[in-house]
Amino acid sequence: MSGRAAVSQRFARLSLLAGLLVFVLKLGGYALTGSVAILSDALESIVNVAAAVLLGVTVRVSALPADDNHPYGHSKAEYISSFVEGLLIGVAGVLIVQATLSRLMEPQLPEANWLGLGLTVLASVLNLMVGLLLLRAGKVHRSPALEADGHHLLTDVWSSVAVLLGVAIVLLTGWAWLDPVIGLLVALGILWIGWRVVRRSLSGLLDERLPDEQIRAVRRAIESFESDYLEYHDLRTRRAGARTFVDFHLVLPESLTLYEAHRLCDHIEEAIDLELPETSVIIHVEPQQFAHEPGTVDVRF
Ligand SMILES: [Zn+2]
Ligand SMILES: [Zn+2]
Repeated sequence: MSGRAAVSQRFARLSLLAGLLVFVLKLGGYALTGSVAILSDALESIVNVAAAVLLGVTVRVSALPADDNHPYGHSKAEYISSFVEGLLIGVAGVLIVQATLSRLMEPQLPEANWLGLGLTVLASVLNLMVGLLLLRAGKVHRSPALEADGHHLLTDVWSSVAVLLGVAIVLLTGWAWLDPVIGLLVALGILWIGWRVVRRSLSGLLDERLPDEQIRAVRRAIESFESDYLEYHDLRTRRAGARTFVDFHLVLPESLTLYEAHRLCDHIEEAIDLELPETSVIIHVEPQQFAHEPGTVDVRF
């Protein structure tokens, strides 16, 4: 297993452990306070546990080297994990809406149990620390699955903060209806996050092009050899987890030997790899006389 995979595995285990602990703590918080907002928060934590298990499986699969059946590698497995994670977040959101709506019909005052509130605070601090760690690891190792899990934990922190504030206000003012209303707002926020995670995974699965600033970096790398080629066209980019793929057509003067053309291509490939590490580049070379019109070769939409 590569170093990156070992690191991802470690973070997946950390996420699982934290998820279990947070779930137990929040459930304790609900048992002691009877707050439906805290219950909705706890239910959402079950999703974290399931997501962490899934994360562990996919980081293992995505780290497998390319083989005969999957010559481009397995890095897209991470999008499946983050897609399912997004769906799970959505399910949690729906569960919470259901729980809060029934409580809204019969408002009930949560109990001022300081131990119960303390457990929920503790769970949130744990989530905050693990979430920040995962987010940083996901950025450093360019792992969409780790990043999705980190985002997920951080949204849990914000929803818990809202829930705790709400319970405090309810206890101070006696407005029992505020508890389910805050639970409902938290649920809407969770549904929104779930949708965003699903959307991001789908764009990865559907080979969305690189973000603008990275495309500019690729163009910069190509254009640093401007004096050696005539023009280039049909630049295509896509990302599969930590790996990036770039291909384009390069029009060269007919006088160039095959040896020179190949050397130029290798230099351009190196320059692109310098801008975007772990990038696989394929260059289709065309002599000026036979240069295809942009967009007419291979790229039919
Ligand atoms: Zn070569
Ligand atoms: Zn062409």
